[in-house]
Amino acid sequence: MTEPSDAGTTTFADLGLTDSTVELLSGLGYESPTPIQALAVPALLQGRDVVGLAQTGTGKTAAFALPILEKIDPSRSQTQALVLAPTRELALQVCEAMTTYAKGRGLRILPVYGGASYGAQLSGLSRGAHVVVGTPGRVIDHLERKSLDVSSLEHLVLDEADEMLAMGFAEDVERILADTPEYKQVALFSATMPPQIRSLAKRYLHDPLDIATKASRTTTTTVRQRWIPVAHHGKIDALTRILEVEPVGEKTQEGAGPGGAMIVFVRTKQATEELADKLRSRGFSAAAINGDLVQAQRERTVSALKSGAIDILVATDVAARGLDVDRISYVVNYDIPHDTEAYVHRIGRTGRAGRSGEAILFVTPRERRMLSAIERVSGRPIEEMGVPSVEEVNARRAGRFAQAITSSMGSPQFHVFRSLVEEYAQENDVAMLDVAAALAVMGVDDREFFLRPDPPQSKRSREERPDRGERPDRGDRADRAPRPTSEGMAAYRIAVGKRHKIGPSSVVGALANEGGLRRADFGRITIGMTHTIVELPADLPDAVFEALANTRISGRLIDLKPDDGPPQGRPAGKQGGYKKGGKPSGGGYKGNKPSGGGYKGGGDAGGFDRKPRHSKGPRD
Ligand code: AMP
Repeated sequence: MTEPSDAGTTTFADLGLTDSTVELLSGLGYESPTPIQALAVPALLQGRDVVGLAQTGTGKTAAFALPILEKIDPSRSQTQALVLAPTRELALQVCEAMTTYAKGRGLRILPVYGGASYGAQLSGLSRGAHVVVGTPGRVIDHLERKSLDVSSLEHLVLDEADEMLAMGFAEDVERILADTPEYKQVALFSATMPPQIRSLAKRYLHDPLDIATKASRTTTTTVRQRWIPVAHHGKIDALTRILEVEPVGEKTQEGAGPGGAMIVFVRTKQATEELADKLRSRGFSAAAINGDLVQAQRERTVSALKSGAIDILVATDVAARGLDVDRISYVVNYDIPHDTEAYVHRIGRTGRAGRSGEAILFVTPRERRMLSAIERVSGRPIEEMGVPSVEEVNARRAGRFAQAITSSMGSPQFHVFRSLVEEYAQENDVAMLDVAAALAVMGVDDREFFLRPDPPQSKRSREERPDRGERPDRGDRADRAPRPTSEGMAAYRIAVGKRHKIGPSSVVGALANEGGLRRADFGRITIGMTHTIVELPADLPDAVFEALANTRISGRLIDLKPDDGPPQGRPAGKQGGYKKGGKPSGGGYKGNKPSGGGYKGGGDAGGFDRKPRHSKGPRD
């Protein structure tokens, strides 16, 4: 079995991909191939069959999609590649990824899955799809109806093969393997390798290259490892709350030098910049490092981390290689690593020089299997933790407020302000307590000091909810009828409708895949002629809007916005909860804001800084 040895030193250009693909990947922010890509891409480009032991999150989709897409001839309209996936979510996800990787090549990539009407699939197939991505049952249906012709098939991919078998598709998968041309190239990916899959591979694949990611044990015992179940769109809020309650940047004792720092791992170069920006705008001292930084910049950022000028470094795996900074006490795996090796490497950035460290792993529902793999490698269970509650965050804010008062009393400016306050209180006959509260308000501008309570759980059980796929089309009722929304849900509008030949599944598929929403986040979907109203959680974070800013369905930008139709349909969350640090209109003391001491303008992280020391950091 082949195991990646020097993963990370290989570049995409080394794999034999065309220059335009290499350029496209760089545009996507992929710095280097993941271990499975480093091995599978060259083998598939050479025409070999491949059996890959790989979980979700390892980059396996690109591992098969990139070489296969390069081999497809756009001028031939026959179906040249077929990808089988266990669920329609995965089929849509693979389809979307392949569409991204095939950008500008003029290839038609069509999803076909069960539970959706045949209409769009039949017309897509009759136009000729170069690549079909489907669930096994529906693929068999199309083969039987002769709507799918696989006589020219050259590439077949079985994605999450173990899952397909577990879902009862064994017979369908075997039939497809048997009824397609014998000399097609086959790539089989599976998170586990039960004997049934080994036997399939033996019977239908030709001398496949066997690839597995090496599972080495961690040696780190000084690092406490925890994980948090989180939806993709909830990551930024979860991280912000962690930063508020955990002692990042806080000194353990006076004169002890800068307190502990955090390194946050994300997958792409763009994500490092975006996340560092978001953290800075929320009041944290963060900087990004990625493979694009020249050495001098990298050194400056690392020394800012060492000195305590910044507390949070947002990094890709490549950029963090070899990073050795003793004060890193937290590693946050914001995006799950591509393999267990990378996890071991990441958490090794903390717990250095005999210190203890903390590792926190964000896990979205689809990444649970990677969590189990990591647990196996780490040799001990990883503790589950929850996102810190509103109460915990607010208690910490109140505590920091009290600390800020105490430390401001030691400031050289203290007596100057004390006389001014005394003068003011006497002249205006105002109680000292009121003056003190007014001064505190000045410190937070118009931002709310306490976090608001979390909205009530919006999830209704699936049984309660009408089946979206079966619901009769309501036509233009989307424009007319009042839309009472379910508890915790609100109506949102997207600019695609019946005219654009969409169905509920394409709406769910696009919003779920690109916005990181879960199926449970969806309520009613009402498709109108030119637009669609979709019920989603009322407190939809800004990150979801950002993630969906360029999303298209049927080629049209969806332009997701709160539906401002009937009053009941207005999302409560957008009426106030997510206000972003706007300035108050009144005048007052803005120009004279004290520069030292616990006052912080800007940011959502509560008005009173965790420590006055931050005034020298980049967030000022
Ligand atoms: P997969 O394992 O195919 O589900 O991929 C997991 C995620 O990793 C997807 O969001 C991909 O966009 C991303 N990804 C795949 N390859 C790379 C790479 N070489 N560098 C960074 N991200 C990648």
